[in-house]
Amino acid sequence: MVYRLVIEATQQENEQIHLTSQQQHYLNRVLRLREGDRFVAMDGLGKAWIAQLIGTSASILEMLHESTELPISITLMTALPKGNGFDEIVRCCTELGVTAFMPILSDRTLLNPSANKLDRWRKIATEAAEQSERQVVPIVSEPINFTQALKDAIALDADCYICVTRTEAKHLLTHLQEKPAKNLIVATGPEGGWTQTEVDNAIAAGFHPISLGCRILRAITAPIVAVSIVVAIVEQQSC
Ligand code: SAH
Repeated sequence: MVYRLVIEATQQENEQIHLTSQQQHYLNRVLRLREGDRFVAMDGLGKAWIAQLIGTSASILEMLHESTELPISITLMTALPKGNGFDEIVRCCTELGVTAFMPILSDRTLLNPSANKLDRWRKIATEAAEQSERQVVPIVSEPINFTQALKDAIALDADCYICVTRTEAKHLLTHLQEKPAKNLIVATGPEGGWTQTEVDNAIAAGFHPISLGCRILRAITAPIVAVSIVVAIVEQQSC
């Protein structure tokens, strides 16, 4: 197993990577790498290199041409669940291949996220991307309200879906079987669900209401299930 580390563009100078003290600690003390050992350095934007540990820096040996990324982009608009629930969503959905997280403050969102939450989510996304051998670290944007998110969604050229409960809606899988998936936005609600106004506004903005099955899933489970379905259909023949 080769360890992976995301580095910032500013840390790289020609073929050298200047490691932060945190990264040195991680490589030396946690992973127990020794002088001359190799690891994968990635910029989180799609590029990766084999690097060799030398003192407090690392030398780039060669570029890696690997691709574990999905051929389409998936943006998750998730109404923030209670407590630390969004941590789990970011971790699992990064593993599954999500491109971007847009945390949403919806009408029934109970959480008022503190400023350090965003940093925490970004750290979780970075660690999960390293762990699941991705080349790209998903973007986690600042929480915004749903009205603003719908405006942003219109600007992106994507197929948009909103997960709804207790209404007649076609299953996500059926939609994807009828129309090959291109870039997607999937919106999931909080513990109390979306309000009817939110669903109506989303539909007016071009979102398709979708079902994820006959049972009510928790706010944490729903995005993970939705992304799993997309990934299964996109990758069924390629991995
Ligand atoms: N309290 C609500 C359920 C909220 S579940 C109720 O009783 O109806 C949290 C969110 O997960 C929902 O807003 C929806 O976006 C999604 N979700 C959960 N189960 C789902 C299902 N079977 N189909 C589609 N979306 C679902």
